[in-house]
Amino acid sequence: NKQVILKDYVVGSPKESDMEFTTSKIALKVPEDCDGILVKNLYLSCDPFMRGRMTKPERASYVEAFTPGKPITGYGVSKVLDSQHPNFKAGDLVWGMTGWEEYSLITSAQSFFKIEDTDVPLSYYTGILGMPGMTAYTGFYEIGSPKRGECVYVSAASGAVGQLVGQLAKLAGCYVVGSAGSKEKVELLKSKFGFDEAFNYKEEEDLEAALRRYFPDGIDIYFENVGGKMLDAVLMNMKDHGRIPTCGMISQYNLQQHDGVHNLFNVVSKRIRMQGFIVFDHYHLYPKYLELILPQIKEGKVSYVEDVAEGLENAPSALIGIFAGRNVGKQLVVVARE
Ligand code: NDP
Repeated sequence: NKQVILKDYVVGSPKESDMEFTTSKIALKVPEDCDGILVKNLYLSCDPFMRGRMTKPERASYVEAFTPGKPITGYGVSKVLDSQHPNFKAGDLVWGMTGWEEYSLITSAQSFFKIEDTDVPLSYYTGILGMPGMTAYTGFYEIGSPKRGECVYVSAASGAVGQLVGQLAKLAGCYVVGSAGSKEKVELLKSKFGFDEAFNYKEEEDLEAALRRYFPDGIDIYFENVGGKMLDAVLMNMKDHGRIPTCGMISQYNLQQHDGVHNLFNVVSKRIRMQGFIVFDHYHLYPKYLELILPQIKEGKVSYVEDVAEGLENAPSALIGIFAGRNVGKQLVVVARE
């Protein structure tokens, strides 16, 4: 069983050399005394929150740290080979938290979702039909409370979460602008995902002025993915009673000390609702989300772009690539296609 191991806790930007490959033996059967499942991993997801799990657990976080010397874990799509769990049987396709390895024994399978709809690409369950899709959906609707005609701004807009937030905003009748870190991504935002406007934040010397250009009357909803200087510039451009679904702050994840946010008092003076959220708390809405999104995908009304790395041996470089913006769209790794 080929595996990707975290060598030691990471300080600063993660590198490929922080991970290594190993092989171990695994029995392809669930032990009698356990109600788990034994899976073959097909697609693995590279997600920003995995960076937090590489840090020594000095402060409590919402997900526990990886254990050095043990395989990395993350979201993936897998095929059940053996099961002692009443909800799953051999042959089922599932998505949930699995190991970065060819086969995994999942001892607590209750948080796995069974994949019922297979006439869309299976890899979509690492993204638009899985955790990142649910993040966009719950953050935008539950926290953002969009109204027709409102002005929405999305950062890291071409990524797994951002590309969907932009399209949900268009479906809700909003004006939406996205930012991303390359010309290619900015082009994608306009041509593929239907953003009204898009810009490359790396080319803007004055982010506050750039936002004023696209939102002369201010922003109603800022879907926050990056934090730091971007959040500071956004705060100056928010309208009164704006909402900021605070999803993530990827610009801060590799820093030992976070950048200060100078304009935070705008949250008070403009009565902005800035609410953090963790997708895990909202999984009860998953059936409602599938009802909304599956027809949109099948009818071609919602687009989805993936960045696919081939083979477990390319998983470490795919994972560190998301912190340098190398991924165009949702980054995943194919371990096996069936
Ligand atoms: P993406 O697919 O968007 O990949 C990460 C992207 O972030 C990169 O491609 C890059 O795009 C951008 N980025 C990387 N470093 C920086 C930086 N220093 N400054 C600005 N942008 C940077 O990731 P996801 O869509 O999966 O995640 C987006 C956000 O959502 C993250 O903050 C993540 O932590 C958060 N999240 C939160 C969840 C929750 O439950 N709250 C659940 C899932 C995700 P570019 O080239 O445009 O810079």
